[in-house]
Amino acid sequence: MWFQTTEAYWLQHEGSLKGGLLLAAFVICAVWETFRPRRFLAAPTGRRWLHNAILAFAFNSPLALLLRLNAVMVALAVSNTRHGLLNHQVVPLWLRFLLTILLLDIFKYAQHRLYHAVPALWRIHQVHHSDPDFDWSTSLLFHPGELLLTEGSYLALIAVLAPPPLAVLGIELAVVVQNTFVHANVDIPRWLDARLRAFLITPDMHRIHHSDAFAEQNTNFGTVFPWWDRFFATYVHDPAAGHQKMRIGLRELSGARSLSVLSMLALPFRRPPRFAASSAPPRERG
Ligand SMILES: [Zn+2]
Repeated sequence: MWFQTTEAYWLQHEGSLKGGLLLAAFVICAVWETFRPRRFLAAPTGRRWLHNAILAFAFNSPLALLLRLNAVMVALAVSNTRHGLLNHQVVPLWLRFLLTILLLDIFKYAQHRLYHAVPALWRIHQVHHSDPDFDWSTSLLFHPGELLLTEGSYLALIAVLAPPPLAVLGIELAVVVQNTFVHANVDIPRWLDARLRAFLITPDMHRIHHSDAFAEQNTNFGTVFPWWDRFFATYVHDPAAGHQKMRIGLRELSGARSLSVLSMLALPFRRPPRFAASSAPPRERG
């Protein structure tokens, strides 16, 4: 009874919880990286912030509202079905919570690896990697097509698992905060970064994934927990060129300026550029 009342309370306030946490994460990271930046940013910050924000708030947020479906809603809708894998009362609730959090995070890890491994998916995901710099605003930069695919497959998984809705809310809130935090250009003392990496992905760890070196882009795929990268041998501790000298973005898109919003939207449909022998090698995938 106590659990049901508590669960109902938290689920009822899901929208404001997510919105409040997202806003707090934006403000804290933006202020933090202004006063304690990890790296000097090469591209004009104002232009990048504006373009990344337009893509998120003019295209992706209305799309999300239009769909009006979210993970917690789906979890609630399927919680009493007979076919779910994680709604059987014989399994203790704490174990179903734990399994939900681990399974949903490992699913996001696998999903991210697929975006890099399958050429058609990479076309959409490269928009996220097109940012020539790396700060909290990079967390806004996703093509609407990626949003649709990511959310669609994630909701389908939740419909199959029928996990406890409160556990889904828990991982959703963690993802909201983590997505902003791992992209932040914040200077975290090395000793603290090392301790955090035992159970959480840090900005220094995720920045390596945004390197313009193809080999480094295929590392550190995780969203919340760093364990999957370590387990599947995709973990890299430091970039080859060092955190200060490593280059961010895509070699295919030369120049330090960020793309315009229209170019970002059109990027998945552009023909891959030809490469001069002296520039970056063609991307070979799979
Ligand atoms: Zn990626």
